[in-house]
Amino acid sequence: MQKRRIAILGSTGSIGTQTLDVIRQHRDLFEVVMISARSSVELLVKQALEFDVNNVVICNEEKYAPLCEALKDSGSKVWEGVDSLCSLVKSDDVDIVVGAMVGFSGLRPTIAALEAGKIVALANKETLVAAGSIVTETMRRHKALILPVDSEHSAIFQCLLAAQGNEIEKIHLTASGGPFRTWSREQMASATAAQALKHPNWNMGAKVTIDSATMMNKGFEVIEAKWLFDVEPDRINVVIQPESIIHSMVEFVDGAIMAQMGCPDMREPIGFALGFPARLSIGNKRINFAELGSINFSEPDLNRFPCLRLAYEAIERGGNAPCALNAANEVAVAKYLRDEISYFDIAAINEKCLKGLNFVANPSLEDIFETNKEIAVIADGCVD
Ligand code: MG
Repeated sequence: MQKRRIAILGSTGSIGTQTLDVIRQHRDLFEVVMISARSSVELLVKQALEFDVNNVVICNEEKYAPLCEALKDSGSKVWEGVDSLCSLVKSDDVDIVVGAMVGFSGLRPTIAALEAGKIVALANKETLVAAGSIVTETMRRHKALILPVDSEHSAIFQCLLAAQGNEIEKIHLTASGGPFRTWSREQMASATAAQALKHPNWNMGAKVTIDSATMMNKGFEVIEAKWLFDVEPDRINVVIQPESIIHSMVEFVDGAIMAQMGCPDMREPIGFALGFPARLSIGNKRINFAELGSINFSEPDLNRFPCLRLAYEAIERGGNAPCALNAANEVAVAKYLRDEISYFDIAAINEKCLKGLNFVANPSLEDIFETNKEIAVIADGCVD
């Protein structure tokens, strides 16, 4: 395999650091040519020096000066802002762009990378939730490629490699159920952010961990799957599988079901996207079936996890509705993390914003940015 040159959008977050861990184990296969962070200067500097990175970008402009100072004797060039990200990902010396920024902020650089025909290893699902039709259309027009990094979608993608072009009848999207899977509605009503952040299986960033606790994450993954695999949501079945051993399944017309399994470790889908079609060793834990004993399945309870229902409603409505849901949810999750609202307020804010939406059936990218801004203001004003 020719050495692949990697740009990482969001290198200091959970996916970013795990991407670098995969690369650290395969320095002969990969070269890191660009890294970026919102504001974590210290870790960004450490990464730049360890991987001898050419271009280092900080999005928070207040951190630009300290970053320049810290890297002044290195070979790294230092840049500031999202515009820099958008032009750097288009560069000829980039082969794969890892999209690991959090939330809506990843949309512009992802579109830029696709416009340049790059391979995008996409972890930032909010990009597809907010602007799925535009993102996939941009990918097709510029002959770019999105490789999923989300573990469920990596699993579906891997199952499809064995499908020989046969059409999918159904996707079974597995969900761990998160930290509140067995909690009563009353217990959940007073659940704190600290409790929600204790995910039983997966090591992930704060935003996605809260989204897992509300199952908004699974709802977003339904939308993500629709865009990545061109499967309508009524053929995407969410099933709770608390051990997180089956990462998702694909069912065909003859009833045959293919599942992709493994111990929960994000380095596996990351490694699969970076090395595709080759598989890389990543030093992860292996399944011991005898020790595992059993795998359990159940149906999600929409009464306790209303965010999952809202996601189905939003994608069914289409247009800018999923974008609005994402925008509302970003604000609500930030409030919840600051202990300003309660657990069920997240769903209440999301639902209110979806209802009050200024609906656009075929949104342009400008409409998407407008919706994101408008809804963020409305969500911020929700005090319940
Ligand atoms: Mg996932």
